[in-house]
Amino acid sequence: MTGAAGRRDELAASLAEVRERIARACSAAGRPAEEVTLVAVTKTYPASDVVLLAGLGVTDVGENRDQEAAPKARAVRAEGLTPRWHFIGQLQRNKAKSVAGYADVVESVDSVRLAAALAAAAEARSREIDVLVQVSIDGDPSRGGAIGDDLWRISDAVAASSSLRLGGLMAVAPLDWDPDRAFEQLAVLSARLVKAHPDATAISAGMSGDLEAAVRHGATHVRIGTSLLGMRNPLR
Ligand SMILES: *Cc1c(COP(=O)(O)O)cnc(C)c1O
Repeated sequence: MTGAAGRRDELAASLAEVRERIARACSAAGRPAEEVTLVAVTKTYPASDVVLLAGLGVTDVGENRDQEAAPKARAVRAEGLTPRWHFIGQLQRNKAKSVAGYADVVESVDSVRLAAALAAAAEARSREIDVLVQVSIDGDPSRGGAIGDDLWRISDAVAASSSLRLGGLMAVAPLDWDPDRAFEQLAVLSARLVKAHPDATAISAGMSGDLEAAVRHGATHVRIGTSLLGMRNPLR
C-alpha cells in the first residue's frame, strides 16, 4: 500500500506499540494507564501526519521549533482539527508572541524573563497557556532548563501570572545518565513543587528510549517522536 493509507497503517501500528509500552510500564508501576498522556512529537514530520495521528485518537502533539510549528498548527486547524499543541523546544523571548498564538502548553519555560514574555503574549491574545517549568537535571545550561533555585523563582512567577497556569515540571534525561537516576531526581523536585503549588502535578519526562523509566518515576506525560513517526533526519 502507498500514500496516505499506507502511512496511516504505519502510524496506527507504531501507535499501538507505543500505547502498549505505556500500558505495560504503568502496570509494572502499579499505576492506571490513564495517568499518562502521550504527547506525539511530530517535529520534522508534516502536518498530514498530525492529521492522521489525530484521526487515530492522539490528542496531544509536541513541536520544538516555532518556525516549523506555527505553519503546521495552522495547516492542521484548517483541516478542522484542534489537538493540544505542546511547545517543547528552547524558546527565545522574541518568539513568545508567535508561540502564544497556537501553543496550549509550553513545556520549556526556563527563565523568569521568558515566563514574563509568554505571560504578556498570552494576555494580549486573551489566552491562558499551561506552563511546565523545564528543569536541567545535570546543571548544563546549554541544553535548556532551570538550574538550582531558579526553578522555584520561575514557578512562583508563572503561578502569579493571570494568563499562565503552572502545570508542573518537564525534563530531558541527560545523555550520559542512567534515566532512572535522572527521573528519580525529577520526582523529588516535583514533590517539593506540589507542596508549594498543589495543582502543579504534571511531570513531563520520557522519550522513545526511556519512557519506561519515566513512568516508573511518576511521569504524567511522555513525549514520543522516533518510536511513533520513525527516525528523523539527523541533520535537523
Ligand atoms: C525530539 C524530542 C522528544 C522526542 O524524542 P524521541 O527520542 O524521538 O522520542 C522529546 N522531548 C524533546 C524535548 C524533544 O526535543
